[in-house]
Amino acid sequence: MGVLLAAALAVLVAPVVEAAKTLDFYTIDVEGGKSVLVVSPAGESMLIDAGWPRAASVDRIVDAVKDAGLTKIDYVLVSHFDIDHIGDLPRLASRVPIGHVFDHGEFHPAPAPATPDPRYTASLNAAWERFKQYDAIRTQVGHTVVKPGDKIPLKGVDVEVIAAGNQFIRKPLKGAGAPNPLCVTNSQAAVIDRDAEDNQSVGVVFIFGKFRMLDLADLEAHFSRDLVCPNNLIGTVSAYHVNVHGQFKGIAPELIGAVHPQVAIMGNGARKGADPPTWPVLRATPGIEDIWQVHYSAAGTKETNPPADFIANPDGPDEFKMIKLSAQNDGTFTVTNTRNGFSKTYKPGRP
Ligand SMILES: [Zn+2]
Repeated sequence: MGVLLAAALAVLVAPVVEAAKTLDFYTIDVEGGKSVLVVSPAGESMLIDAGWPRAASVDRIVDAVKDAGLTKIDYVLVSHFDIDHIGDLPRLASRVPIGHVFDHGEFHPAPAPATPDPRYTASLNAAWERFKQYDAIRTQVGHTVVKPGDKIPLKGVDVEVIAAGNQFIRKPLKGAGAPNPLCVTNSQAAVIDRDAEDNQSVGVVFIFGKFRMLDLADLEAHFSRDLVCPNNLIGTVSAYHVNVHGQFKGIAPELIGAVHPQVAIMGNGARKGADPPTWPVLRATPGIEDIWQVHYSAAGTKETNPPADFIANPDGPDEFKMIKLSAQNDGTFTVTNTRNGFSKTYKPGRP
């Protein structure tokens, strides 16, 4: 056998060392809107929300799709129809093919003010126009209205719908359901700003082996409480995408304390979300190891923002960087700041 042939055969029979298949979340910088690209261990993808109806949001999503090595988005989950989530799906679809759309159903406009206000009428008309365009594309690509208890069929991971259309699961997820002692305090429940669409948000739990991620989109504190009081129907999670971009109206300590994540991620903008009063609540959560932010929160101070390595876009010009979370099925996960490559690995094994 010639040396060259032997070498060629050696290459052919060499064991293929495949990287462990991971469940990946890219929290995209859409300037305070929401957009998270999820790539399952089976290689299927789902976009949660599409940011603002601006070219810049579409550009950032397309960048993330390329970074993830994808050529299409298999599913789109639109948590609700507020302007910072509904994005511009027709424009996105012209750049990258998108598959089946999941959402909570119909648009719920903000209640009219007591005295007629032309600004309200103008913004209502614009919201209906956006929804009309969205409705056309969801009809074109295929569309399902989800209900609590449904699963989104992203291959390789369980995606459990726990909230949708202001309805919530009534039975605990597997392994959950213990009484929640934190329900004795009724935290922020009285001071919410009831945005009609916020509280229609589709909320999901991703379950991949021992790894769990909770994402309730813009569900406000009062209704988040329904998921954990008197019994914690969610159980504990590894990572938590903080409600309402970290705006204080989304912060229910009974929820956060009960699910007690190792890591919280805030999809905030420099001037939206990551409210300073949110910080001490997250920081006081038993077992929390780190808080990651898409932006430095300009409303806060160094004391109410994480260290720079945990912020994708620090104070100053927007760099449009992401936070990537990559999870293994043994519960280990790594979070990476795409600005500087800083990453930290978190081990499972907490009660
Ligand atoms: Zn929002």
